[in-house]
Amino acid sequence: MDAALKPVILTYHSISGGRSPLEISPALFVEQMEWLKAHARVIPLASLVSALAACSPAPPRSVVLTFDDGFRDFHAAAAPVLSRLGLPATVFLPTSFLGRSSDWPGQPSWVAPQPLMDWAQVRELTEQGIAFGSHSVTHPDLTTLAAADLDQELERSKGEIESRLGRPAEFFCYPYGRWNNATRQRVKQHYAGACSTGAGVVQADADPFALPRVDAHYIRSAFWFRSMFTRRFEAYVSARRLIRRWRGQPEGIYSRV
Ligand SMILES: [Zn+2]
Repeated sequence: MDAALKPVILTYHSISGGRSPLEISPALFVEQMEWLKAHARVIPLASLVSALAACSPAPPRSVVLTFDDGFRDFHAAAAPVLSRLGLPATVFLPTSFLGRSSDWPGQPSWVAPQPLMDWAQVRELTEQGIAFGSHSVTHPDLTTLAAADLDQELERSKGEIESRLGRPAEFFCYPYGRWNNATRQRVKQHYAGACSTGAGVVQADADPFALPRVDAHYIRSAFWFRSMFTRRFEAYVSARRLIRRWRGQPEGIYSRV
């Protein structure tokens, strides 16, 4: 497939004015969404995974929007913009932390805990068409868990989202981007697909249970954001992945300490 046509899954965390890699300012977010509305085709994650499963290419210039952790500012700053522009999105929830803050164990020291949405807010957004997936129950590094604990994290989070929202929770997102063959196999038992934090555009043969994404932090400059769907963009994103590997860093910016 031509590089210009390959789908991109974007990862956002917090839409707020701080300077950490996890934060994109509300003003920049609006600018980015308006650019996507004009220049891309924003599709649901389910549509992209169905296309991969059917070996049929997603529409040209496809983008999927994902938000990790369910921060409260998604409700205040992101959802109104998505609703105004009619853009679909998936938010991944660590279910036991809803209504609390992101102070799960293993949080890197440079991350200041932020409040998460509560279930009432999540329900309200479900009515507006936002999709919710699982980001586990307690946001652990799944690769360190015993099999029974791993199953708990996968089953209980899915069950709680589905019973509280009355909608299927089809997709999973690995906390800290940490997964291995064992976790992937268990995730496959319960979900239709899963997002990783490995940087990349979505190739035609991408693994639906370890989907690469592009962190919004990497492309916060208008130059890189607007290079989306070019070979230059694909090379840049691959380079970010290789640099992390070369430094011996885990994939994704949000690595467990
Ligand atoms: Zn997370």
